[in-house]
Amino acid sequence: MGSESPLLESADPFVRGWEYLQAARQLAPVGDVVAISNHIGDRIRICTWIGENICAVNQELLDCLEACHQCFYPAKRPQCHILAVPLASHLRIDALCNILIEPTTILIDVGRIHPPDWLAAVVHEYAHAYLKAPGHDRLFYDVLTHLCLGLGLNTPPLATEALLRHWPPYQPPTDPLAFWLGAPNLVATERGPQ
Ligand SMILES: [Zn+2]
Repeated sequence: MGSESPLLESADPFVRGWEYLQAARQLAPVGDVVAISNHIGDRIRICTWIGENICAVNQELLDCLEACHQCFYPAKRPQCHILAVPLASHLRIDALCNILIEPTTILIDVGRIHPPDWLAAVVHEYAHAYLKAPGHDRLFYDVLTHLCLGLGLNTPPLATEALLRHWPPYQPPTDPLAFWLGAPNLVATERGPQ
């Protein structure tokens, strides 16, 4: 994946996945934001799945990031990395933008967002990266509206903080862990509530 992603050097998929998560933790505002299940069997499955599949997932996120870049002249584009990571379930956040590090790093929990909505999640975080600001104010509204118009997404109808915080809207999956356990597109499973 080159400089866009932590190096995945080990030949063992489980070790590669574990190393990826360690590297991703360094890029989060607080390390324990990046977290996986405490269940040992799940941990092994998730790390192994990451080791085998994360480069392909990150490439899809890079395509979303590039689409955002195309909405702005090159000189205006923020320096930005993007990574797929599982975020701690108790936080109930799908994505975040760490503006405290260079380059700005967007972390997306692709398990909490259906693949067709990944672009919407990236667009929201990209607006934060563009402004280098965490707020959902009038400036955020302007940048988000610019991105939505450029990418064919619904524009926010109001510039209120409560609405902008969750724009563009999308449906959350019922089981955020299912994707990381290797079951993409699985909406409901037998695992029960998290
Ligand atoms: Zn936001």
